[in-house]
This record gives sequence, structure tokens and C-alpha cells, in this order.
Amino acid sequence: MKGIALLGSTGSIGTSTLNVLRRHPEAFRAVALVTGSNAEGLAGQVAEWRPDFAAVVNGTESHGFARGREALVAAATHPDVDIVVNAVVGAAGLDATLAALRAGKRVALANKETLVMAGHLVAAAAREGGGELVPVDSEHSAVLQCVVAQGAAPSRIILTASGGPFRSWERDRVAGATIDEALNHPTWSMGAKITVDSATLANKALELIEAHFLFGLGYDCLEAVVHPQSIIHAFVEFPDGSVLSQVGFPSMEVPILYALTHPHRMADSGVRRFDPVAAGPLTFEPVRHDCFPAFDLGVAAGRAGGAAPAVFNAANEVAVAAFLEGRIAFGGIPTAIDAALTRLADAPADSLDALREADAAARRTAGEAM
Ligand code: NDP
Ligand code: MG
Repeated sequence: MKGIALLGSTGSIGTSTLNVLRRHPEAFRAVALVTGSNAEGLAGQVAEWRPDFAAVVNGTESHGFARGREALVAAATHPDVDIVVNAVVGAAGLDATLAALRAGKRVALANKETLVMAGHLVAAAAREGGGELVPVDSEHSAVLQCVVAQGAAPSRIILTASGGPFRSWERDRVAGATIDEALNHPTWSMGAKITVDSATLANKALELIEAHFLFGLGYDCLEAVVHPQSIIHAFVEFPDGSVLSQVGFPSMEVPILYALTHPHRMADSGVRRFDPVAAGPLTFEPVRHDCFPAFDLGVAAGRAGGAAPAVFNAANEVAVAAFLEGRIAFGGIPTAIDAALTRLADAPADSLDALREADAAARRTAGEAM
């Protein structure tokens, strides 16, 4: 029986994780549940799961649960926890990832912003404490499954991207897209922030940086291709030119269960069985760089290294929040990111404090550019 800490329990990945746990009561127990501010939703989950620890990080209403930012680290290092599912959105998840890895836990990581902001420190924390990082992100889970199946390191990785709701829109129309249009994702149902990231293609840049840190390849060996059906999750090339893929109907429950059981597999009757005819024709297109400037900004930040990925991530977070609050246009998101990267790409990155400083400065600079 593995003890699970679920951070971000009331969100989209949190809900999918609990669906997976519900089908495997003999294998997993929810030891800790932590959410951002949705105390009401947490109360319902606590009634069902009876965890040892439950907490709300922000907000005014706590229903008597533990409160505050320390709750994420407390849950992540709880002695009865074997696996931390980090499904918090944004840089707020970083401390918990670091603490869990230092405490020797497995981290099933949905919170990709953590790796983008501080990939080297996350890797160092895993080495120090003997913890293990396993991706939940569907593309990275696909890569990992191919690597495990092959038993060898890949030479090139191509991540697929749905292309988002504006895949075939003209450039000017994309720049003026509304909130409702941006939240109308064609193939995945997800939280608001990552849905907007998918529409700008910032998500795919974050994922290339995530792949860099997870699989150790340079950016010349990391690519993205638009695949509107979201059936093939990644292409993994090996040195002899052979390419493996992992395939399936879009569902986060498959990569979540794999992150819990890696490198093994557990039978799961709750997953829609694959049907190639129902999947229909599979198509591929290049990324339209001129319409989705956030993609190139993110890849350039990844290549620059140092604090640049943290700056890209933080500027994107505040710009997406401003867009979702109706304060800036969709086209203002890459503009704000660009302003922060131009000013701060060379910021120091030699410690966690330096990265936090870069993160804070990027939020300020992006804010001034809005
Ligand atoms: P949601 O917005 O649905 O859920 C986010 C969760 O994080 C909520 O429980 C929220 O709590 C909590 N949260 C938000 N801010 C904080 C904070 N400052 N401190 C603690 N908890 C906080 O997002 P998703 O589930 O869609 O995404 C979660 C992460 O997984 C993101 O990093 C995303 O990029 C990644 N991911 C998501 C995928 C998906 O299919 N959804 C696919 C691949 C990756 P509350 O609601 O109470 O505020
Ligand atoms: Mg993904």
C-alpha cells in the first residue's frame, strides 16, 4: 500500500488523480490532501477519503483545516507518504517538490512550472535525498514509457501539441482572441492557466524545457509538432534512427497511474480502450511561429539557460492571470514575456534565492509592460 500526498487536490489533475485512486483502493491510500483556496471542495474530499492531513493554502475560509504555505511542504514530507502528486499550478509548487525529493519521496510531477523555474536545483534535491521525479505531463510520460520499453537513452524527442483553439486562425485574429475563445480547448479539459498556455503555445515551450531537464537532451534534439488529434503523445528517436511512440485517447488518468506505478504497470479497467478507427486520420503540421510568439520566447529562454526559464515562466504566469482577469489582450501575453526576458535574461541563477529574485523581478517587469 503506497501513501499518497495530493497537492492541488481540487483541481483538474487533482480530480483525475482521485479517480485513479478510487479504482485502486488496495494499492494506494490518500494520506494528505492540500488545495489552494477551495475549502468547500476539500471538505467533500476529506469526507470521502479521511486523510491523516488536510490543508488549505490560501483564502479566507478554511473549514478548520490546517492553513498556510507551509502545508504543502508538511504534506510532501509526511512520514506515511511514499508518493507526492504535485498538481499545484505555478511556481507555488516549487518548495514542496524540493522538500519531497530531499525526503526521498517519489514526486509524480504535473506542476511543470517547478522544473522550468529551477530544473538544476530539482535534480540536485533528488540526488541529495534519493527522491525520484516521474512526469505526469502526458507527453513526458509517453517519452518515459518509450525509454523504459527500449532500455536506452533517446537521441531526439518530438513532443506533440494539439495546436490549441487557434491552430488555424489568422495572426491578427489570434492576438485579439477573447477569454472564452482561449478557454475552449479542442482536445483536453484542464485548469484555466494551462488551457491559456496551450492556446499561446507557451505550454509547449514549458514542456520542451521540462523535457530538457527530465531527459538531459540539448535543445537541438528537442522539437515540437502540431498534432490536432492528441493521439500520439510523443516521438522518441534512438541513435539508429528508429522511432517509438506512446499512443492513446487523450486522458490524464493513464499518465497519472503510470507515474504512480513506474516502471511497472497496473491493470486499470477505467481507461477507454484504444480504437485506431475511432481515432480517425492522424495529421501533423509545423508550429506556426509567427502566430504564437510565446513558443519561440520560451524555447529561446530554455536555450539561454540560467535564470531565463524562471523569468519566462514567471512573466507568463502574471500575463496569463492578467488576461484571465480581462486586463490585457491575448496578444499582450507574449509582449509582457518579451519585456521581462529582454530586461532579465542574464539575472543571477546560482541559488534558490537568486531564482526567487528573478521570478519576482520578472513578475514586476511583466506587470509594468502591461
Ligand atoms: P487547476 O487550476 O485545475 O488546479 C490547480 C490546483 O492547484 C487547484 O487545486 C488549486 O487550488 C491549487 N493551487 C492554485 N494555486 C495554488 C497555490 N498558490 N498554492 C497551493 N495550491 C494552489 O490546474 P490543473 O489541474 O489543470 O493543472 C495543475 C498543474 O498540472 C499545472 O502545473 C499544469 O500545467 C499541469 N498539467 C495539467 C494538465 C491537465 O490536463 N490539467 C496536463 C499536464 C500538466 P484552488 O482551486 O483551491 O485554488
Ligand atoms: Mg502536456
